[in-house]
Amino acid sequence: MALLTLEGVSKRFGGVVANHAISFEVRPGEIVGLIGPNGAGKSTLFDVVTGYYRPDAGRVAFGGRDLVGLRPDQVNRLGIGRTFQKLRPFREMTVLENVMVAVMQHAPQPAAAGEEALGYLEFVGLAGKGSVHARGLSTGERKRLELARALATRPRLLMLDEVTGGVDQKTIPGLVALIGRLRERGLTLVVIEHNMRVIMALADRIVALHLGEVIAEGPPAEVVRDRRLIEAYLGGAYARGA
Ligand code: ADP
Ligand code: MG
Repeated sequence: MALLTLEGVSKRFGGVVANHAISFEVRPGEIVGLIGPNGAGKSTLFDVVTGYYRPDAGRVAFGGRDLVGLRPDQVNRLGIGRTFQKLRPFREMTVLENVMVAVMQHAPQPAAAGEEALGYLEFVGLAGKGSVHARGLSTGERKRLELARALATRPRLLMLDEVTGGVDQKTIPGLVALIGRLRERGLTLVVIEHNMRVIMALADRIVALHLGEVIAEGPPAEVVRDRRLIEAYLGGAYARGA
């Protein structure tokens, strides 16, 4: 049985159709890669699933429960965590405090929350940075902090929006290894990712969006041969060396 089900999800902003009749499933334990050119509607779809936008049409279900109409905190409490393409740590708080804020939503006792938060920092490789202000982190470190904050909400499904975006090449393998260890932890993942090498290494299945619609879906080795996808996206992405 699917963990996450999308059926005919549509979302428009005025005249812009960001998502049109999107349907696919995510099964427990899978890593699904969500790809497509800028403006394809990937981040909007994350916002719809996680309660930031209400879809104009369609159904979103998680573990058999309907999510449409729920607030982001309610969706999160049901077990869906996410990261944001535009990182938003509390810059004046320390790294540890940033994670504690997320932990304390379900474990309000500070000492226990601190301990749990430190566990997430260790997992993402930031244990040595706990007392540093978040504004002092490198981009790669801020991506790791964002992951720790998402983990701190104890999700079953984690949705990652461009975790390797904007970081330098030598930082990418460490982030990819970390995402692989999230799966070993038992998490189900949906990852938005432009780096095709990363997608090919991680994803069990790919869903490709273009102009708000699903244009290809399947195992990575098949999807990368899809003619529409190559025309819409991959030709350019490969040419850019992404
Ligand atoms: P992607 O993440 O695939 O790059 P987005 O989901 O961010 O794409 O955007 C899909 C389309 O919706 C784009 O045309 C974008 O300009 C538009 N869009 C996204 N968010 C908004 C918004 N809050 N208001 C108006 N238009 C939006
Ligand atoms: Mg986006």
